[in-house]
Amino acid sequence: MSKGILVVVSGFSGAGKGTVMKRLLEQYDNYALSISVTTRNPRPGEEDGREYFFRSGEEFERLIREDALIEYARYVENYYGTPRSYVEEQLNAGKDVILEIEIQGAMKIKEKLPESLLVFVTPPSVEELKNRLEGRGTETPEVISSRLARAEEEAEGMENYDYLLINDDLEECVETLHHIIQSEHYRTHRNLKFVNRIKSETKVFA
Ligand code: 5GP
Repeated sequence: MSKGILVVVSGFSGAGKGTVMKRLLEQYDNYALSISVTTRNPRPGEEDGREYFFRSGEEFERLIREDALIEYARYVENYYGTPRSYVEEQLNAGKDVILEIEIQGAMKIKEKLPESLLVFVTPPSVEELKNRLEGRGTETPEVISSRLARAEEEAEGMENYDYLLINDDLEECVETLHHIIQSEHYRTHRNLKFVNRIKSETKVFA
């Protein structure tokens, strides 16, 4: 059985990444979504162990010291990190593991694990982004402006991603993401065992 692909999905806050991931996991079996650790407070309706593992600053620091996080980053006043053990287990079990993380973390993953697939999700326009963030009604105006300011920084890094996914229509976006990930399995560099077998078999004809 071949190892799964580590898929990093980033995008502006309010781009609808969360909904896209939820639909992707509902529709297909072979994906595992990594649950991050964060020091931010849960939003209404969020549960510990479902959206995030909500931890104190001290607990987060302990995880860093124990090298239990593959990457971590500070984002608008809080820390967010990816637990290592779950990701490794799922990849070894052949699952494609999805990390929904911001750009600093994405760049760290690209550096440490260059075989990862990086996808950037964006709404069709910035106007739409602002409407979605305000419409969510879960953040204070200050937090919304920090998140919009952060979007400028993130837009700068969009070209470092392998694919750009425009979230206009939800179902279409989910399908496209699924196709992108599945196509990635057919890349020659991910199938070197097969390539080498065919090479040695064709030698007979030389
Ligand atoms: P939110 O507070 O809206 O849930 O997340 C804020 C940002 O942190 C989002 O861009 C989200 O993708 C990112 N994020 C969530 N988990 C992680 C993580 O484990 N590592 C990093 N680097 N970013 C994360």
